[in-house]
Amino acid sequence: AEAGRQISLFNNSGIYRFGDTNVVFIDPVRVLNRSYSRFYVSPSVYYSRFFQSSSYSTVNDVGASNCTRKRKRGKFSKKTLHELNSREIIADQRHQEVRPVLVNAHETLLEAGLLLEMMRNLRNDGSSGVKGDADSNRADSELDFVNLGRLWQKQFYEIILKCVESCDKSILPLFDNIVSNEGSDDVEAEIFGCKFILPKKSCFFMSDIGQIRNLVPAEADCGFNLIVIDPPWENSSAHQKLKYKTLPNRYFLSIPIKKLTHKVGALVALWVTNREKLRTFVENELFPKWGVKHAATFYWLKVKADGSLIGELDLFHHRPYECLLLGFSHAEDKNSEHLLRLLHIPNNQVFISIPGDYSRKPPVGELLVDYIPGSKPARCLELFSREMLSGWTSWGNEPLHFQRSKFFVSR
Ligand code: SAM
Repeated sequence: AEAGRQISLFNNSGIYRFGDTNVVFIDPVRVLNRSYSRFYVSPSVYYSRFFQSSSYSTVNDVGASNCTRKRKRGKFSKKTLHELNSREIIADQRHQEVRPVLVNAHETLLEAGLLLEMMRNLRNDGSSGVKGDADSNRADSELDFVNLGRLWQKQFYEIILKCVESCDKSILPLFDNIVSNEGSDDVEAEIFGCKFILPKKSCFFMSDIGQIRNLVPAEADCGFNLIVIDPPWENSSAHQKLKYKTLPNRYFLSIPIKKLTHKVGALVALWVTNREKLRTFVENELFPKWGVKHAATFYWLKVKADGSLIGELDLFHHRPYECLLLGFSHAEDKNSEHLLRLLHIPNNQVFISIPGDYSRKPPVGELLVDYIPGSKPARCLELFSREMLSGWTSWGNEPLHFQRSKFFVSR
């Protein structure tokens, strides 16, 4: 009965809680869909990977696909402990420490029969809707915001917002400008004839990191209570199929976290890769420079539609999980520092999901609500964002990337 209740909660929220454990399963499509009233995020477009036919078939088939991968990445999988350099040894220690937590989380998932059944069909949910018309629009795939944003003409580019109910239109500068949909309905937008969907009560600021200071609010009580950051970290691995340009670490030191923080304080959630050099940089330089106190680490465990991990847990450099570091930033006022000390975040929470496009992270806001300082609804900010959500400000050089109409179906 409890599993049935969880499934029905999951259907509405996109979040499945495994009783009293530290584990949750997320369907990002259901979570994102809570931001829209006229459109659905298309599950078949979101789940572009890990639903291959082999993942539906027998255990043997899954084994076979793992073998091919092993051959391709053989040089990593064969690394033994004494071949590791000193940094890799520390990374391995971190991995060994969290390994039982992850194994346990994965076993918890594999015991949830009803959920596993649903997972196989996540990609087909809502497939009866009308698909976004931009698929046939060739210009859409050529619209590259990162490159457009480099042109001097960018100051003249505009976005047209169309309110469906009232036929109202507004035309606003596309770059270096806060564009918001304050209404309680989705808005259709147009740029060079290409269509985008903006969720209710959402807002974006599209700029290069050089202009990030323009996000700093004039008043301290207009700052943010939750700041999620997924930086374009440099990655030495040539195997990584990166779809965006990376930035050297020193650029991130200049992000004005303190000035973006609400006067009652903010929870800061930072995505990091498993590279030890990066973890050291964050712990010893970045968090201290930002004034963020590390409070807990959460893990995103990535599975296929059949519930198996997307890769071997112990494969060096290709772990099937990523880390979300959580910390608090307090505003200038001392009182906020004191209040933040009262907030406790349990360590080692694990959230499991089937990954979408490359580097696309699941929406984690819901999982963090209990640890966000200040009154509700919290003011939320995502840095280096590629999508929009209700109640959030999305900043980056391509925050409209996943808002193209081809990612949606209409209700
Ligand atoms: N969290 C995102 C998601 O789930 O889709 C992925 C973010 S990705 C790791 C990093 C983002 O930073 C990319 O969209 C990239 O284009 C952007 N970026 C890279 N260089 C930038 C710069 N100089 N200024 C602003 N954004 C930049």
